[in-house]
Amino acid sequence: MNKFLSSQIEKALGEKCPLPDNFQVLLKMVSDTYDQFESEQKNLELQLSGKEEQVNESKYKSLFEEMADGVYKSTNEGKFVDVNPALVKMLGYDSKEELLSIDIKTKLYFEASERDNAVLQNNINGLAVFRLRKKDGSEIWFEERGSYVSDGNGSTIYHEGILRDVTKRIQTEFELLKSQKETADYKKALNQSLIVSITDKNGDFTFANSNFCNISKFDVEELTGKSQDIIYSEHHTNDFVNAIQNTISTGKVWRGEVKHKSKEGNFYWVDSAIVPFLDDLGKPYQYLTISIDVTERKLADEALLANELKFRSMIEHNEDMISMFDAQGNFTYVSPAILKEFNFTFEECLTLNSMQIIHPEDQPMMASFLSEVMHVQAIPFKCPIFRIRKKDGTNVWVEGTLTNLLKNDGVKAIVANFKDITKRREYEEQLKSRNSELMKSNMELDKFVYSVSHDLRAPLSSMLGVIGISEEETKEPETKEHLGMLKASIKKLDLSISDILDYSRNSRMEVNKEKIDLRELLLEITNNLKYQSKNKVEIKVDLNEAFPFISDKNRVNIILNNLISNAINYQDPKNTDPLVNVKIDMSDTETNIVVKDNGIGINKDLQEKIFEMFFRGSENSDGSGLGLYIVKESVEKLNGKIEVKSAPGKGSEFCILIPHK
Ligand code: ADP
Repeated sequence: MNKFLSSQIEKALGEKCPLPDNFQVLLKMVSDTYDQFESEQKNLELQLSGKEEQVNESKYKSLFEEMADGVYKSTNEGKFVDVNPALVKMLGYDSKEELLSIDIKTKLYFEASERDNAVLQNNINGLAVFRLRKKDGSEIWFEERGSYVSDGNGSTIYHEGILRDVTKRIQTEFELLKSQKETADYKKALNQSLIVSITDKNGDFTFANSNFCNISKFDVEELTGKSQDIIYSEHHTNDFVNAIQNTISTGKVWRGEVKHKSKEGNFYWVDSAIVPFLDDLGKPYQYLTISIDVTERKLADEALLANELKFRSMIEHNEDMISMFDAQGNFTYVSPAILKEFNFTFEECLTLNSMQIIHPEDQPMMASFLSEVMHVQAIPFKCPIFRIRKKDGTNVWVEGTLTNLLKNDGVKAIVANFKDITKRREYEEQLKSRNSELMKSNMELDKFVYSVSHDLRAPLSSMLGVIGISEEETKEPETKEHLGMLKASIKKLDLSISDILDYSRNSRMEVNKEKIDLRELLLEITNNLKYQSKNKVEIKVDLNEAFPFISDKNRVNIILNNLISNAINYQDPKNTDPLVNVKIDMSDTETNIVVKDNGIGINKDLQEKIFEMFFRGSENSDGSGLGLYIVKESVEKLNGKIEVKSAPGKGSEFCILIPHK
């Protein structure tokens, strides 16, 4: 029986909870109950046997019906033949008939093996403890005294027995065992983790457990008899130390966290309880200190605090306005910069909702922006510029970020980091309006230059016409000479006006790209310039037109015309073999134009200046000093680059690179 009960209890408690030694106590209790039960049974039997003839059928029947214990008779196959009302009730069935109809093996036992065990226990001891399943599925524990009635050949014909409900007792025993086990585990765990020491009334160590030695790095021998000053860290104030002393010397337990120093000089933190042991007079004669190591937590706390202080100071000294608010927009923190800027007190801010300080016109925009921010966590979102309303009703423009640190449970916050950009905005506005004014006056000026230049050219060509007629009519060589000089001056003036018109066109007109037939354009330009110089200058064209050249024809014309014209003009008159070489190479991405001459060249120190407006290399130059300036402006409009290589007396080379996109 003992073995079975033990295995049943063990099963119920689970494998992880082996039975402790005092399980024997439980078994003893069970055996005692059994003895008591057995003697009651015997008495009953005695009564029955002694007065058998006196006990009539109806008396036996009423005993059967009224017994508090369950009584049954069942077949070997597992059907009840008879059950008393107590058993029907205990098993939770509605009627005797219902219970008689069930299959005992499958309905009453949780597992077939449990029935075999019950039979076995009964066979060996005449008493079995086992559980059965009630109609509602719950378990009920029984103590049974049963017997097996067999036929002449030894086969069991039927079982009969008396069942007593011992569920409460078994459950109590289980609970007891469980709590005994828990207490044992708890004690073991405490012993393993607690740091324990005892000091006498003077504060000298009389005992230290191994945990104490491990953490303090002192041996027991080194500690015994020594004052506990040996582990003082000097971290705590005198007031703190005195408070401990005052508490324990009056017999009260002190509880708190203390920092100690180990033999090696390292600090450690313990959460301690100091328990004074009092003598008959109520005076402490020794102190038991029980502690746990909390160093890691304290170090983490310290680091956290240091970090927090660092960030706090960074935030508090920051000129940016930093605030935090919850998911509803209520402020939970505002930095001093905000208080200063808006004249609010910290407390006032905490009663405000962030929307309240936003300019009403900007509120809808900010509300929709905020709802966007709510969906993305931990990434700073650049806010659109908006206005915040100060306490005095004036507004400041701000710019910055919102970072959503809200967790799903809403623990954290939204952090807002803003800068006052009111001044910058005013400045930008001023700049914008000044810029548009400037653009307007520039355009007007360009318009003026264009129309004046245009209008000037018509009278100049009439003047040239009149001079032509006068030249034909006059026979006076002196007048002829004067007319020639007049004509040259007018031509120079016309050239200058034409340059100004080119400049004006370049600055006003959009880039207009088209397919350019370079060969045709170059032919036109060289034909026009051929007779520009008295010297006959040879113009060589080397055109490598592998790709179609799509660009702004007007500007390309201005560039080539000016460069070739200069290359012809700035030839040395003494040069017997003046040459201009125009070389154009193309790739699919860019066009490279080189205009090279063997003319007078340009001094190194002038090479940077030649692209300036109205710069002329010498007083003798016939030009307006605008040509290269217009070339450079035009090249830049086409996103290209121009550079010059030149050596005085040897010649100049102008290289231009025009990208196709
Ligand atoms: P302009 O020819 O009307 O004087 P440009 O702007 O075309 O004005 O040229 C500026 C100056 O650069 C010229 O006065 C001249 O001194 C110098 N220059 C330009 N092209 C050449 C060249 N191919 N060879 C030598 N000097 C040049």
